[in-house]
Parts: sequence; structure tokens; C-alpha cells
Amino acid sequence: MNVKRSVSWFFWTLWVCIVPAGMYLTYHFYPPVDLNVWEFIGFFLLAAAITLFPIAINGTTIFIVQWVTLAALMTFNLFFSMLILQLSIILLMFRIGVSKNELYRFASNSLMFFLASFLSGIAYFAVGGQVQDHSLQHILGPAFLHEIVYFVCNHLLLFAFRNLSGHKHKFFGADLTWETLTILMVFPLSIALYYLFGQIGLPALALLGVPFISASLVLRLYNSTEKINDYLQNAVEIGHQLTQHLQVNEVLDLFIQKISHTLPVDYAYILSVEGKELVLIRRVEMGEIKDNDLVPLKKNQGISGVVWAAEKSVIFDNRSEWSGMAKGYMPENVESILSVPIVRNKRIVGVLLLASTRKKAYEKYQLMIVDMLCSYFAVAIENARHYEETKRNSERCALTNLYNYRYFENLLTEEYVEMRKRKRKRISLIMLDIDHFKVVNDTYGHQSGNEILVEMADRLNRLVEGFGTLARYGGEEFVILLPDVSKQKATELAETVRLTIANRPFTLHNNLEHERKRLMVRITASIGVATAPEDADDALSLIRHADRALYIGAKRAGRNRVAEYVK
Ligand code: GH3
Ligand code: MG
Ligand code: MG
Repeated sequence: MNVKRSVSWFFWTLWVCIVPAGMYLTYHFYPPVDLNVWEFIGFFLLAAAITLFPIAINGTTIFIVQWVTLAALMTFNLFFSMLILQLSIILLMFRIGVSKNELYRFASNSLMFFLASFLSGIAYFAVGGQVQDHSLQHILGPAFLHEIVYFVCNHLLLFAFRNLSGHKHKFFGADLTWETLTILMVFPLSIALYYLFGQIGLPALALLGVPFISASLVLRLYNSTEKINDYLQNAVEIGHQLTQHLQVNEVLDLFIQKISHTLPVDYAYILSVEGKELVLIRRVEMGEIKDNDLVPLKKNQGISGVVWAAEKSVIFDNRSEWSGMAKGYMPENVESILSVPIVRNKRIVGVLLLASTRKKAYEKYQLMIVDMLCSYFAVAIENARHYEETKRNSERCALTNLYNYRYFENLLTEEYVEMRKRKRKRISLIMLDIDHFKVVNDTYGHQSGNEILVEMADRLNRLVEGFGTLARYGGEEFVILLPDVSKQKATELAETVRLTIANRPFTLHNNLEHERKRLMVRITASIGVATAPEDADDALSLIRHADRALYIGAKRAGRNRVAEYVK
């Protein structure tokens, strides 16, 4: 998430003003008592281990180091306790992997924990707590107060800081429940560590630290299997949804949408293997679909090209891990990358690349989920492509690539429905039949006739592009559907069409001779025009009437002319 510069400045300024001076003053008033280097190292190592293996429950990472810092406070005074905490924060930030534009989090966290530990330390001493006081009666009250103050400060500050930096958070969220529970767990542990350390010294850190860290590891394992189960269930559901869609674009959109909900995704690219190249077919950046105008990749070019060539998935935690290999395009603020080959029937048909501005955004087990989703995706996209092609074939003519009569009749029927709903005022229809086309076929061959049909389709397309629909109605018959065009305007257009055909010869090759000589042939067409609603009450009548105008009004009257339907 991009945080405004002012927020970053705010936290760093506050940090500079408060933390160094605060630490100095703490050192002055609460200096370490009887601390040797080994004890310092021991406490630091324990705190570091706890920081590096934090407890994670349902995606919330719980950072519980205060049982060590409270024991440190009771044994070696406040400064030492705060120092250990600050060092842990730095480690924690490294562990989480804070990206460049989130560096302010070092400042805000350091500041927050400084304030919480300072105030709770003051509270401890204010109610009579002392350093190295071994009377349980004396110590329990102040130590408990210390925990409460620490907890309240921490929660208040966290709430305030998060909202300041633009992350909206509820005050009584799930975090609060966990934090409350952790006090119950941590407080007795802290007291135990204090006494045991007083008795046996450094081994106490291992005796209590080892079970604590193993418990945390067990919880992590348990949580990750739970998480994987959730993901798997989710993936199956997504798979079903994907295969239900029949349009390629719908499948692409749904896939990216679902995968962005499942994983942290700021950038997503789907590339398709087309011959020897990897061509971009979907590009979504920060939730926005962008043009697929990036240069196609060859094998081993860019990260996707490497994934394609090696047929292996990759995960990168930060920029330095991949910056050497990406010759291709990659947005500037990308840190983590996850890329997998899309496989269908043991062949790589594409590559998916996901990227995040966060460091360490992707984990190994997520790869398995993405892999599975990609298999569903590959099937879904193949189905959709197949469907679209079949649909296309069923509504177009193979020779001219124009719509065929089936498509045209459906379209006209729909237009009539629109007209009945009064969304359409009128519909005009131009129908055209080439004159003496049989002669062309007989003279130059059927294939030459086809050449003329193709050129005819091209000329007509240019004329009606944008305001009418052109279709090949039969052998050498074409129709033009003109929504909201008056009969007069349609007749004018028909006249333009007639001239466009008659005034310029068509090119063909004589297919009946050996040399296939290139020839220019003049042809003409007869055209009929009818308009709804005045000429016909339904779609088929309109076609019939345009046809009638064509044959009776134009052909019989001598061909190469335009005729309107008359009742
Ligand atoms: P007119 O319309 O002026 O009365 O004469 P015509 O010779 O064009 O007659 P008609 O429309 O009845 O015949 C259509 C001819 O068009 C018959 C057939 O040889 C030819 N034709 C139809 N479909 C195709 C096609 O796909 N390719 C070629 N080359 N010829 C076709
Ligand atoms: Mg004809
Ligand atoms: Mg005909």
C-alpha cells in the first residue's frame, strides 16, 4: 500500500524527536544493574528467537516478547528492557520484509513500542516496583500493572498509528481478543523467568525459551495446514466457476479476480504460448485492465520466458532476487513475484505471473494452489476458445468472413423486438444480388467468382462500417441492415452501393487457363430496399419485401438499378 509522503515524514520526525532522547534519558535514570555481556547476549538471543518465530493464528502474527522484556526490567532495570525490545522491533521489520515505501514502519513501530514500554516501566516503578526484589508479594502488583499499562498503550497507539497511516482499523477487532489472551499466558511466564533467572542464571533462558518457541512452531504448523485446507476448498470452488464461463474474456477476468482475492496481487499477467513466442493476453495493474501492448517474449526472455523454458514455477521474495533476470517489462515498485507455467495435456500453453509491491508476499504452499487454479484455468480457457470458435463458425461465412443468413435473421428479429419496445424507430434493409453472376463463373471459373465475392464483401464493408450490419444472405446475395435509417436515406445509400460496384472493375484471375492471368471484370448488381415498420410487420416479411423489390423493381426492370418496395 502506498502511504503518502507526509505520513512517512510525520513518523520519522516524531521518532527523531522522541526515541533517541528518550532512550538516553532512560539510560540516565534507569541504568543497567549488574549486567554482564553474556547476560545481554542471552536475553537478546531469546528475544530474537521469539521474534523470528512468531505465533501466527488465522493470518494474524502475534508478537509476544514482553514476557522476556518484563523479566529483563525486573532483573536489569528499564533501559535494558527497552533496548531488547527495540532490537526485536528492528528484527521483526526485517522478518516481515518492509518495502521501500513502507520504511516509515520502522519509525512508527519503534516509536509505538518505545512509548508503551517506557510508560509501563514508569508505572512499574511508580507503584513501588523495584529492580531485583525477590519478594513475590512486592513484585506481583507492579508487574501486573506493568502488563496492563503496556497492553493498553500498545493497543491505543496501534489503533491511532494505523488509522493515521491510512489503514482503517476497528478498535475492538480480532487483535484485541488475542492480545488479551496473551497477557494471561505471558504474565506468569514472565514471573517464572525472573525467579528462575535469579536462581540459576543463563540456563533459565533456555529452560523457558525452548518450550515457548516449540509451542509457537507447533501452532504455526497447525495453522498452515488449516490455511491450506481453506485455500484448497476455495480453489475447487473457483475451478467450478471458471469452467462455467464460455467467453474467453470472462474466463480471463474471473481468473484474475479470484486469484487476486486469494493472494496478495498488485500486478497480474497472463501470457499465452503462440508458436515460438509468449504473447500477453491479460494485463491487470493495480486492479486496472491495461492494453496488452507489451512485446512478446522468446524462451528465456524475462521471468516469464525463463519459467516457460525451464517449465518450473518460481517465487521471488524481493527485487534483488530477480532484477538480474528480468530483461522484459516490470513495474518499478514490484518486490515479490510468483510465476507458474500453465499446463494443458502435459504441454505448456501459457505462463501466469503475479507480482506484489510487498517483500516476501508469496509462500511455497501458495504455489500449489496457484498451480491447481492454473490447471482449471487452462481447461476453462480451452473450452471458451473452442466455444467462441464454434460460435463464430456458425454465424459467419467462411469465404468472405461476413455474417451469414442465420446470424442476420436473428439480428433482424432482435431489432424488431427493440422496435416493439419503441427503442428503435425504424429499420431499413438493403438487399443486393449480383447480375449475371453465372456468366462470370462460366467464363472464368468458380474460383474467380469467389474472388469477386471476396472483393465485393470488402467494398461493401467499407461503405457500411459503423452504421449498418452487412451479411452474405445467399450465394451472391448480400444484405445490409440499417437501424434507425429512413427509407429515403437507405435508398440513397443503395445508390452509392450500386455505383461503388458498377464504376470500378473487379480484379480476378482466370482460373480456367493455365497461366491464371490477372483480369479486370466489370460487374453490376440489382438492389432492393424495404423499411419497417411501413413495409412489413415482421422480420421475415421485411426480407421478403426487400427481395421482391430487388427482383421485380430492379432485375425485371433491366438490372443495375435500385428499387424501393411498393405495396
Ligand atoms: P441474375 O441474378 O442477374 O438473374 O443472374 P445470375 O447469374 O446471378 O443468376 P442467379 O442469381 O440465379 O444465380 C446465382 C449464381 O451465382 C449461381 C451460382 O453459379 C453462383 N454462385 C452462387 N454462390 C456462389 C459462390 O459461392 N461462388 C461462386 N463462384 N458462385 C456462386
Ligand atoms: Mg444473380
Ligand atoms: Mg442470386
